[in-house]
Amino acid sequence: MLTAFFEGIPFRMGIVGTSIQPDGQNALIDGFGRRITYVRLSVTDRCDLRCVYCMSEHMSFLPKTELLTLDELDRLATAFVSRGVRKLRLTGGEPLVRRDLLDLVRALSRHLNGGGLDELTLTTNGTQLAKHADALAAAGIRRINVSVDTLDPDAFRATTRGGNLRQVLDGIEAARAAGLAVKINTVALKGTNEDEIEELIAWAHGLGMDLTLIETMPLGDIEPDRTDQFLPLSLVRERLARRWTLTDLATRTGGPARYVRVEETGGRLGFITPLTHNFCESCNRVRVTCTGTLFMCLGQESAVDLRAPLRASAGDELLNAAIDRAIFLKPKGHDFVIDRGRAPSVSRHMSMTGG
Ligand code: SAM
Ligand code: SF4
Repeated sequence: MLTAFFEGIPFRMGIVGTSIQPDGQNALIDGFGRRITYVRLSVTDRCDLRCVYCMSEHMSFLPKTELLTLDELDRLATAFVSRGVRKLRLTGGEPLVRRDLLDLVRALSRHLNGGGLDELTLTTNGTQLAKHADALAAAGIRRINVSVDTLDPDAFRATTRGGNLRQVLDGIEAARAAGLAVKINTVALKGTNEDEIEELIAWAHGLGMDLTLIETMPLGDIEPDRTDQFLPLSLVRERLARRWTLTDLATRTGGPARYVRVEETGGRLGFITPLTHNFCESCNRVRVTCTGTLFMCLGQESAVDLRAPLRASAGDELLNAAIDRAIFLKPKGHDFVIDRGRAPSVSRHMSMTGG
């Protein structure tokens, strides 16, 4: 093992053959021994909705010239795959508003066929799914996450600031018809959908879809006070347990969710609880924005630019060095706090980092 300094930052590396690789292997292992096998890649910061917990009403988006091109996104994703990343999730913003997204999916699916990737997947708000479901399935996507916070059309319009629930439900139908496994993501919101959570679970499970509940996280400035939105999932679980039998499952899908089976519905229910119980010690992921900034933790500001090394040369040496530097600097965990009047833990919105 050698210890070198890369731009003043301690960098551990071993030497294998002629290439320099961290810890004598190709794998991405952070300073706390966690192996990074999951990348969430944001393809755009834009969205056709403005969910009240995610964005402010008047967002300014990046000029399109700032975004990585399709080839650059492909090259970046491929560099991670060649470093042992097994799961790639395309996200945003809303990934399906990027016009060339399907070309990217088709290109990246070669890693599924070649065995480099176990899974290529997508998180979407579902508004454009009816149009794209068949093509996504044909391109190798097997599972998708769709965000649905309410089944009430008026509440949906209010929560998303203008969204049409019917479009999303039609999109989910099209995805299921195309053979995609759909998981529903629901952000639990105090006073908004808290009385509807059981209905949402019963609906999802009735259609054979898993549902994961998410605690709202303090990311970026929004108009409402997050203290008014925050609903601890410990409380939700307690309420659900009064009606249903919840059996803990050992299942892990490579994410932070902890799962239970709802015995009465037979379906799976996940809990993502970054505020009430974080699972940073087993974190296996990093996030890359649509401009090529690598965020090592959703809840920290630390980041490394991958766009400059990507553009600086046709080879991947500089890119790999920047990735190594970032992974070594991955923080131990986030310090999310939601308090009245307190600034968000990180200044960027979830739609910027890629949820
Ligand atoms: N537009 C797509 C969607 O809504 O599914 C993908 C991007 S969105 C940022 C990914 C996920 O992040 C969604 O499930 C959304 O509900 C969630 N999300 C956004 N802002 C959040 C926040 N502040 N706290 C918790 N979850 C958030
Ligand atoms: Fe758009 Fe998704 Fe954010 Fe809602 S949660 S505003 S759909 S990016």
